[in-house]
Amino acid sequence: MEAKKKIGVIGAGISGLSCAYELQKAGFDVTVYEKEATPGGRMNSRTQNGFVFDTGADHLCNLYDTMKAYCNEFHIVWQKMAFNEYGVIKKGKIIRLVDAVGRFSQFRLVVQYFLTKNVGDFFFLNDAVKYDTDNARDFMLRRTGKEVVDYLVDPFVSTYQFHRSNEISLGALYGIMNSVAKDKTKWDLHRTRGGMKALPLAFAEKVHVRFRDPIKSILGGDTVVVQARDEQSYDAVVCSSPATVTNRIYSNPTEAQKTVLENTRYATTMSVVFRVPKASLPNVSIVWVPYVENTAISGFVNESMKGDECIQDGTTLLSTWLHEDFAKQIFNLSDAEVYERVREELAKVCTWVARKEDFVPHDLERWEDAMPVFAHGHLSRVKTFLEHGQGGNNVYFCGDYLNSPWTEGALRSGVRTAQTIIDRFAE
Ligand SMILES: Cc1cc2nc3c(=O)[nH]c(=O)nc-3n(C[C@H](O)[C@H](O)[C@H](O)COP(=O)(O)OP(=O)(O)OC[C@H]3O[C@@H](n4cnc5c(N)ncnc54)[C@H](O)[C@@H]3O)c2cc1C
Repeated sequence: MEAKKKIGVIGAGISGLSCAYELQKAGFDVTVYEKEATPGGRMNSRTQNGFVFDTGADHLCNLYDTMKAYCNEFHIVWQKMAFNEYGVIKKGKIIRLVDAVGRFSQFRLVVQYFLTKNVGDFFFLNDAVKYDTDNARDFMLRRTGKEVVDYLVDPFVSTYQFHRSNEISLGALYGIMNSVAKDKTKWDLHRTRGGMKALPLAFAEKVHVRFRDPIKSILGGDTVVVQARDEQSYDAVVCSSPATVTNRIYSNPTEAQKTVLENTRYATTMSVVFRVPKASLPNVSIVWVPYVENTAISGFVNESMKGDECIQDGTTLLSTWLHEDFAKQIFNLSDAEVYERVREELAKVCTWVARKEDFVPHDLERWEDAMPVFAHGHLSRVKTFLEHGQGGNNVYFCGDYLNSPWTEGALRSGVRTAQTIIDRFAE
């Protein structure tokens, strides 16, 4: 009998783990290398003082079909949030999202919905490449005007991507608009019981992961040599690390691989969390903070929507994300200074909490490579990479930057890369 093909996977985030799991099921001998002590990467949770804090990704949507299927397979409880209401800041006040813009702007937005091109599935953005022709901000300014851009388009992008809407491709915007129109109710917020780490942990129990074992270098070829605690050779290697990291550690990428690695930019943010009196917060899940209202805070989340795991002794957590330029300004300050700078800004926009002292510092996480930027041009480079670069030198890539944003985009990218390898080795 032929020996099993050996595959090394760099990174135990959700894309690397789903890829490793599918390869192992297909009969490959798989080893995952993870630099940290726990799996999950940007999909992780930490428990402190009884609270579960999701350090990166914070919530999931009911339209994450692939993720739901794995949760089902692993008996992970997929829970609807206790409430699902959005707010936005306008003229210093928190108002409902549906009231963010006036009647005329609403009308222009509805017209634009009807004109939106069908790009298929948002979690398969590679199909949207033919609309990678403009950026969302300029396009929406022309079609719907400044009010829609300032109070809906830009805050949506900066709450979830941390950068501004001039850096998101029209193809990605069409993907979101299609999906909101088509799958409206499926955007309901959900979570996995136990926090974001539940699914990565379940995957990591099923595959062989070498924790605290960062890859220092990769040399592609007929066999791929990786240098970690020791040197190992593989028939193929999958890099699920962020493109910036892969670019540093992979010494001989092909031209098509180099182009996608060198041109992928990530937005920076921080998750800064405070404990606040639960009774002070209404049942609003997430508040978007437009840049025109506050240039520091991009959004905040009322974690009591997650139920018992986020409510203790009459308090809950308020998770705060930052606009990229502010995050960069304070990135290297001490934790105490970060809490103080963020608390000052948060008190200006989270008017539910009466006194600054009621925001009690709880936890924080710095994310230099928080979110890949799907700027105009990125989807086209990814398409070229998938057609000409994937598997060059027997090195494969997966991750959110190669499909679509967020955990579902990353997960599906991992599954797809596994399938590409399975097909190649079957040839
Ligand atoms: C603040 C924040 C909020 C977010 N909010 C949401 C949300 O609400 N909902 C949602 O669906 N998504 C959200 N996301 C996005 C989501 O977290 C990511 O898209 C997804 O988790 C990316 O998964 P990945 O596997 O591609 O990458 P990663 O999770 O980054 O995995 C890469 C892994 O590689 C490891 N690694 C890096 N270098 C090495 C090395 N040299 N050797 C070995 N291992 C290495 C890392 O430690 C990591 O575990 C958020 C992200 C952030 C940062």
